[in-house]
Amino acid sequence: MARGSAPLGEVVELVAAEMVSEVCSIYVVRPGDLLELAATHGLRAAAVGHTRLRVGEGIVGLVAATGTALNLPDAQNHPAFAYRGETGEDLYASLLAVPMRRAGETLGVLAVQNRAPRRFTGIEVEVMETVAMLLAETLAASGGIAAPEEGAAGALTRRFDAAVLAGGLTMGPVVRRGSAPASRRLLTDDPAGELQRLAAATATMQRGIDELIADRLPAVAAEAAASREVLEAYRLVAADAGWLKRVTVAIRTGLTAEAAVLRVAGELRESMRRITDPYLRERLADVEDLVGRLLTALEGKAPPPPVAPGSILLARRLGPAELLDWHARGIAGVVIEEASPAGHAAILARALGLPALSGTRGVVESAADGDDAVLDGEAGHLILRPETDVSEAYAKAMAARTARQAALAPLRTAPATSADGTRIQLMLNVGLAIELDQMEATGADGIGLYRTEIGVLAKGAIADIAEQAASYARVLDAVGARPVLFRTLDLGGDKLLPGDRAEPGENPAMGWRSLRIGLDRPAVLRRQLRALLMAADGRPLSVMFPMVATVAEFRAARGLLEAEAAKAARPPERLAIGTMLEIPALLWQLPSLLAEADFVSVGSNDLMQFLFAADRGSKLLAGRYDPLSPPVLDMLDSLLEHARAASVPVSVCGEIASRPLEALVLAAMGFTTLSMPAMSILPMKALLAAADLAAFRPVLAAIRRGSGAAASLREPLAAWARERQLPI
Ligand code: PEP
Ligand code: MG
Repeated sequence: MARGSAPLGEVVELVAAEMVSEVCSIYVVRPGDLLELAATHGLRAAAVGHTRLRVGEGIVGLVAATGTALNLPDAQNHPAFAYRGETGEDLYASLLAVPMRRAGETLGVLAVQNRAPRRFTGIEVEVMETVAMLLAETLAASGGIAAPEEGAAGALTRRFDAAVLAGGLTMGPVVRRGSAPASRRLLTDDPAGELQRLAAATATMQRGIDELIADRLPAVAAEAAASREVLEAYRLVAADAGWLKRVTVAIRTGLTAEAAVLRVAGELRESMRRITDPYLRERLADVEDLVGRLLTALEGKAPPPPVAPGSILLARRLGPAELLDWHARGIAGVVIEEASPAGHAAILARALGLPALSGTRGVVESAADGDDAVLDGEAGHLILRPETDVSEAYAKAMAARTARQAALAPLRTAPATSADGTRIQLMLNVGLAIELDQMEATGADGIGLYRTEIGVLAKGAIADIAEQAASYARVLDAVGARPVLFRTLDLGGDKLLPGDRAEPGENPAMGWRSLRIGLDRPAVLRRQLRALLMAADGRPLSVMFPMVATVAEFRAARGLLEAEAAKAARPPERLAIGTMLEIPALLWQLPSLLAEADFVSVGSNDLMQFLFAADRGSKLLAGRYDPLSPPVLDMLDSLLEHARAASVPVSVCGEIASRPLEALVLAAMGFTTLSMPAMSILPMKALLAAADLAAFRPVLAAIRRGSGAAASLREPLAAWARERQLPI
């Protein structure tokens, strides 16, 4: 009888039967380079969970160490044989042991033994290798097998530093991404039948994806359509004839549909293992997501049940559709070991408002389902099994946050006005149509920055004109009479499309990117401009260009747009053409720039990095240079002065507009339009409502006058705000 955890117990039974072997055992690699007997059919049950070998010790250890199979008619006389009396294996002469490998890593060893000395046939070895591969998939997907005896280490707190994919704070029990079920049947003598099963399952899977898009995303039609953008690249992988064809070929060699899907997934994973390009690595998450979906469809299983309230999902990788599934099941946060901030899962997590972290290697392995965890998407930590005082502190912080949000809700319908009556336009920074419901949720005055490249990155390709036009039209429909500033594609630098190679230069942020590409290869830019004009269909349209360094560049870009507008079937009733201010050189061309630009928006993220020569992505430089410093405030003053003189509206859409103290200073200086992520809008309304800008202005002036060569004015400014109990 088989011994071991239930699914592995079934596997050893099945393999022993299929191989006509008296013994089948599974050893799994445990921390400390140990191999532990995790399940057996034929050896002594008491040895399960107890028999351990070092990797490299004994035949099983040798197989694990070398990653190659051993097929031995007389194992006991092999020089590596290590006797383990508790197993009762002295009865067995022949042994076939194969490594369970995945992505270059050995996760365990699968072995069969027979009393009679025999050499296993080539086909038998292949069957064992296929089973070992399936087991490795299962182990990897489930994050390993829980050790039978949880030592003290299992209860200890673990902290993981993480990259933040989507901000927010949540705590609850963890749930690990479910394992791919081990296939019961591996081989078939009816490939035609299996091909039919595959076709039916593929159709079910595609239908499932359509349903996800139609039903499971937040309600209204525009958003559902928008999510299609996000899922389009994923859907392309789903429908990709390439990998499905390889599954078909594998079935024709005699594998069942399940085994064939897993084999092809394993091969794809192996070939993608060395890819470092984050966008291509995202495709790997897509494939894994689809494999899970296809296996579920093949098994004809019911959709998985909801998770415990507040659950935090832990996954090695996660595809976008899978994230939607888990969102529908009720998770409150997600931690993905391997995900890039610009990847699909990250984009969707932000759009769904789901706190998300990545870069936490080993977290899936360190957790057991149901362990408590704190996901801190502000500081970028995951705390597994937190100490009581830590969870209490976080619980208090969350309760305070919930209370704050409830208090802010009534502000949704109120205009953003300071205590002294200055009306400030608060606009949204968004990039996906799925985020459009934030207009209503926040009562924003419009969209101050629509980052068109986000949809392109989500899709993994630039859509054709009609599709682009449809998506821009949805944005215009959603905002109605309120303004939207569409920014043309800001690709390159760190925003690469699949297949794009990063520019070999040492400073991609200062390389051939954004409008520079648009002007050098104008076909793509022209198509985008045409799509924007089609979407407007006679309505007012505002377009701005990113990364403009010279007036000549702006003029060239403007010329392209005007030429397209002249050809449009229904030109916009009003066409406003503006520029981002992100490159310091523009600051010395303001009079001529403002004579040609209809509006300017300060992209402080890039502007700060170029002003201070400080990479905006560098953790080591974060916070080193303060925008609340004399050079920046003087620069902004000069910009405002020029803009007023030229009567050109100027707004701020970089991150500084969303930070309370910075926003207060900007508003006091005279910026009346600030554009920011949705979650900052209501807190900003509350801050402004409490702030007397007229009283603040002389204080700000005095602090600036008295600053000398201070690197930062933050402290005296914050002190003023704190004295007035402003929520900074
Ligand atoms: C900026 O640079 O401030 C900006 C808003 O653009 P992005 O962050 O998309 O580069
Ligand atoms: Mg920028």
